[in-house]
Amino acid sequence: MNAEPALQQKLLELAEVDAELNRVEHRRRSMPELAEITEAEQSVRTRKDAVVAAETSGSDLDRDIQRLERDVDGVRTRAQRDKNMLASAGVSAKQASDLQHELETLARRQGVLEDEMLEVMEQREAVQTNLDAARLELTTAEQTLADASARRDASAGDLDTTEAGRRRDREPIVAALPAELLALYEKGRSRQGIGAALLRARRCGACRLELDTQEISHIRTAPKNEVLRHEECGVIMVRTSESGL
Ligand SMILES: [Zn+2]
Repeated sequence: MNAEPALQQKLLELAEVDAELNRVEHRRRSMPELAEITEAEQSVRTRKDAVVAAETSGSDLDRDIQRLERDVDGVRTRAQRDKNMLASAGVSAKQASDLQHELETLARRQGVLEDEMLEVMEQREAVQTNLDAARLELTTAEQTLADASARRDASAGDLDTTEAGRRRDREPIVAALPAELLALYEKGRSRQGIGAALLRARRCGACRLELDTQEISHIRTAPKNEVLRHEECGVIMVRTSESGL
């Protein structure tokens, strides 16, 4: 393939723009915020689980407390009824003795229930302390995630701006190149990540391999408008005065 040396030089300009686009892409993938976000998301999930677990324990204990309150109420109502019966006229001695006996049983039962209630309320308090701490940790983790996301978005925004600029730079260069030459460039770029490179100090600018004497002598004698490709890597080698041929 042939192309004017000036057009071949344009390939180097294009390669420079594309190298910058590659760097933008690399920076996009290797933003430190991405790892921070992954870690923060994990942390938010763990803390959400802790909050849910504490909430569940809390509502279980609330139900226990309500049940104990109902039981105590039941015992009190029963005891009040027994006391009323005892106080009423016409209670036989046998009935009175039975009622007294039941009142003692009810008093013991109430004592047991109240002890249990006290214990459950202490547990409830401890769970509430855990829940408050877990919620605070969740808020902190969510804040960390939001901060990292905001920084990622800001960095991505900067990269978008840089990328848009380089894409604009690319357009007039691409427009000036013959389709066939551009296709050859893109072929190398898709395979090697570089479409064209300067031949300098006998080295291919793409793969950095040193060319042997035979290749160099071929290049020296090749017409200026011949498009040369490095056999090893397939990338277009552009000759300029810097090539040192
Ligand atoms: Zn090469």
